[in-house]
Amino acid sequence: SPMDHPSAPDEQVEIAIVGGGIIGLVLTVGLLRVGAKVKVYEQAQGFREIGAGIAFTANAIRCMHLIDGGIPVALRSSGSVATSNGGEEDPNDYLRWIDGFDRKRGDEPRGQRLLYKLDAGYRGFEGCRRDQFLEALVKIVPPDVVELKKRLESITDGGGADEKLRLAFADGTTAEADIVIGCDGVKSRVRRILLGEDHPASRPSYTHCVAYRTLIPMERAVKALGRYKATNQHNHVGPGANLLHYPVAGNSMLNAVAFVRDRRRWPDERQTVAEGSKADVEAAFEGWCPAVRELIDLFPDTLTKWGIFDLWEYPVPRYHGRSICLAGDAAHASSPHHGAGACVGVEDALCLTTLVEAVVADMRGRPETKRAALDAALTTYDAVRRTRSQWVVNSSRRVCDLHQQREWADDDRLVKAETCFEEIRDRSLKIWHFEYEAMMDEALEGYKRRRRS
Ligand code: FAD
Repeated sequence: SPMDHPSAPDEQVEIAIVGGGIIGLVLTVGLLRVGAKVKVYEQAQGFREIGAGIAFTANAIRCMHLIDGGIPVALRSSGSVATSNGGEEDPNDYLRWIDGFDRKRGDEPRGQRLLYKLDAGYRGFEGCRRDQFLEALVKIVPPDVVELKKRLESITDGGGADEKLRLAFADGTTAEADIVIGCDGVKSRVRRILLGEDHPASRPSYTHCVAYRTLIPMERAVKALGRYKATNQHNHVGPGANLLHYPVAGNSMLNAVAFVRDRRRWPDERQTVAEGSKADVEAAFEGWCPAVRELIDLFPDTLTKWGIFDLWEYPVPRYHGRSICLAGDAAHASSPHHGAGACVGVEDALCLTTLVEAVVADMRGRPETKRAALDAALTTYDAVRRTRSQWVVNSSRRVCDLHQQREWADDDRLVKAETCFEEIRDRSLKIWHFEYEAMMDEALEGYKRRRRS
């Protein structure tokens, strides 16, 4: 018993998750299901802060199901809806790219042409409000698992084989765990602790793209765009910018995001939102087609400008240290052009849940194997997840470049510009058709191999 051997490791795997965002909570539900002891430390006061929307691919929802059957139930109970508006005759979801720039042959405006349409399948995307999904997730976690108002400051590793990590929080309290999983987002503190303050990947870098987002009442949007365009997802592409919109709130509102290339430096990296103006957006879309300009005319005079930061320039060289690892945006924050950043984090959560389940099985009746089992699991996690998740970061940048290529403004190079859709299709399918079962097999194989050697 532990009384006779005070230094004997305990039987359970104790995991601290830093950050109760989508990935932190999805992972928590999975790790609890497979028998780990979990605590989540979230700096915020609660989950009611961000009302923004988020959509998940059908593939990510299947991953959620494998993590724990309760997660897709929570997603749907939080009011998620398939994004399709095709009605009964066409229930699939599509991405559509449309020619947004007004090139002229002689004096005639060319009008807008649908450039490409990609079928994401039946219920290919399901959208929800972030805060509602987070609240629904918290409800399926036992009450004392999530601790709010806990901002992580440091982690100390004594280095002994059976020694726990010690986490210290801004409020002066501490906690212990066998491993820490940093799910603390793009500005991750855990990443800085893992890599060191001076490492270039300790801070995200500016993508030189900004986003202006607004909601427009559907009736007004219909006047600008026409009913079909307003009630179906469209991405207007053109030189130096693109305008994405889709209906939300049961078709009563249009969510519009203008992405604009910015050659300047971002003024203050600690503050990634700034006040923007409609005039800035109008300037970026000067010379675009009437529908786009009329929609932008409906933007409010002042609106938030989001600087988009990612880990493309300096990717994280490894997702784990001795007892620390990273998941979600903390590991691979991406720009939003694939709309799949959280989906890739859900894949991380499935991989970690699979590996921790193997660790728990391995340790049954022999707690002394804990350290070696956790080492094998974290090393395998890094090997399985790093390349794909970093590819998504790169691909998102590439897709932004293609959306905003100069050639869209040049009649003679329009055919050249359009060749990008073959590439965009391949990239999207690689995300949407992820072989998660093969990933789980690879993780278990890698774990077993490392445990044997
Ligand atoms: P976060 O959601 O950032 O959560 C991190 C959590 O950690 C936060 O709750 C934070 O308070 C907490 N935290 C931070 N530091 C500390 C600390 N020191 N101590 C304790 N807690 C801490 N992805 C999609 O799949 N589909 C989409 O449609 C989509 N749309 C997007 C649109 C935009 C405009 C953007 C910017 C991103 C979009 N994404 C989308 C990407 C998605 O938002 C992220 O990938 C996802 O939110 C990452 O989740 P996370 O849990 O890793 O990090």
